[in-house]
Amino acid sequence: VLASDASRRATKPAAGPAAPTDAAGSAQRPLPADGLRLTAGLLHDWQHRNASASMPLALRQLEVAGNLDNLRLAIGVAADGDGHADAAAGDVDGEAYHGPAFMDSDIYKTLEAIGWELAHGDRPEFVEFAARTIGLLERAQQPDGYLNSYVQATRTPRYANLARSHEMYCAGHLIQAAIALHRCTGAPLAESGRLLAIATRFADHLVREFSGQEKGIDGHPIIETALVELYRETGTGTYLNLARQFVDQRGHGLVGDSGLGRRYLQDHLPIRETDTEVGHVVRALYLEAGVTDVATETRDDELLQSSITRWADMVATKTYLTGGNGSRHVDEGFGDRFELPPDRAYNETCAAIASFQWSWRLLLATGDAKYADHMERVLYNGFAEAIAAGGDRFFYVNPLQRRADHFEKDDPGRRREWFSCACCPPNAMRLMASLERYLATATDDTLYLHQYTGAELTGANLAVSITTDYPWSGQVTLRVLAAPSAPRVLAFRIPAWSASSSFKINNSAEQAVVPQHGYLLVHQQWRPGDEITLHLDMTPRWTYPDRRVDAVHGCAAIERGPLVYCFEQVDQLVPLDELAVRPGVRLAEREVTLDGIGRTIQVSVAARHVPPPPEQPVPRVSAVAIPYFHWDNRGPGAMRVWIPGA
Ligand SMILES: [Zn+2]
Repeated sequence: VLASDASRRATKPAAGPAAPTDAAGSAQRPLPADGLRLTAGLLHDWQHRNASASMPLALRQLEVAGNLDNLRLAIGVAADGDGHADAAAGDVDGEAYHGPAFMDSDIYKTLEAIGWELAHGDRPEFVEFAARTIGLLERAQQPDGYLNSYVQATRTPRYANLARSHEMYCAGHLIQAAIALHRCTGAPLAESGRLLAIATRFADHLVREFSGQEKGIDGHPIIETALVELYRETGTGTYLNLARQFVDQRGHGLVGDSGLGRRYLQDHLPIRETDTEVGHVVRALYLEAGVTDVATETRDDELLQSSITRWADMVATKTYLTGGNGSRHVDEGFGDRFELPPDRAYNETCAAIASFQWSWRLLLATGDAKYADHMERVLYNGFAEAIAAGGDRFFYVNPLQRRADHFEKDDPGRRREWFSCACCPPNAMRLMASLERYLATATDDTLYLHQYTGAELTGANLAVSITTDYPWSGQVTLRVLAAPSAPRVLAFRIPAWSASSSFKINNSAEQAVVPQHGYLLVHQQWRPGDEITLHLDMTPRWTYPDRRVDAVHGCAAIERGPLVYCFEQVDQLVPLDELAVRPGVRLAEREVTLDGIGRTIQVSVAARHVPPPPEQPVPRVSAVAIPYFHWDNRGPGAMRVWIPGA
């Protein structure tokens, strides 16, 4: 069925999820995937867990939940033709369409994860699933390129309700899956070419249907960034033009009515005129990825600046300490500025992924280290925490506090295997499978290292290996494996949280780092065997909330390196909501191995037991914190990130 591993290697180095063209206005470039791999450490282990536990779960769930049956149903309806007039919408031959209208997108996200994962080596079960599923998609696709199991199986008119139908949202995920498979498995893999053919047929249909017209735009963005990427993959300019058209058409009431207002759909104002994120978070942030892509490829500085402005506002006023976004459950939406209640945080997992992807595009566009800083915050906290230690359960909503008696309707707020709206788990899988693509960037003469983990990578003609126990340790050792004859700059991101850092080259004396624009820049002629060791200060630290965040007045949180910490009931001697601390007091850390979690670093602090009503004398106890991403792996119980001051 498949080409061998050797012939799978494309002649051109495979690109990652966002690959700006040579003509794009990008400050930095992604590294070619050849020689870019995770070798050891936390991110490596997460990626391995993703392939061994999470993705096999998705393959099962797509059958169990009915996603693949929906495709079969669409194929059956097409075979029935118009003669089957008695079939009620949603019920064909006694079989019903399963789940929400965007069930196809879960299939596409899983195929995308398979694409990125196959770059790491052969996985016959993934290849077999991809081949089988691509066969279904080929049969379900209509002669003019249209493909949507909900619309086809329920005989719903196409594009009749774009505010809700997710037709182009599903098309966008189809395109992204096709690109991942195509980039990672190369042209010799028959299946990857077949999926790209399905995707381009659909994209060509969209161009014919919407290009140059005001027929509507999709209520759930992602088609914008997907079309730009398809342009990058195929060179077909009409895809870029359609993406730019969709971006420019937003804000003019073309989307229709979702029932939740125009802000929900980012259709209240033209994008260039908005200065803050509103409405449904995932929609808003997928749109921003597309806005940044369009701006980069068309060198539209005004458009790029508008995205940069909204990013800065979002991070300063509408983002939780964990990097999460979304403080309203009713519309999975952004709240007002500084409306960030920890217990009511929504912080959808997909929102963390969307934020990560948008920041990556802004990093490529501008080369500003603050975007990599934020990606790190999202990656190790708001995103990592969504996945259970075993890789087989997921959070959809990611609050910063769970009370002892918490329920949301009848849901106790624990991770689950799957969801009736299962957007998050396969979304997490596609990011995990492509994690190494986000570690570093390059220009002609500089290799930028943004995320530290055990890895091998090549950029600016330098090949290096990274050895580190990050984020547990702040020591990062880079070893040059191969170097060109001309000098090169090695640029190490110095995280904004690092109060002090130092480095040494080979056996030279330790020097204090003086960051330039967020990077330590070392410019010299490199030779194989050269080593740079970077020391980042990992001392646990107190973090205080902005005074405008009313919900956490008088509280403080603990961070260590890139990790946000939280207090779980299971580690405390007294009820969690009867604990108070004196912020600023010394924090002690120790490495431990915990059941259900494994190796971690605890941080403890002297605390007061303040039972309500207050009694005297107040007993002294210790409060113990663990990394936020480790919580909810040891049974139910209360958790909080922000802890009250005594
Ligand atoms: Zn989601």
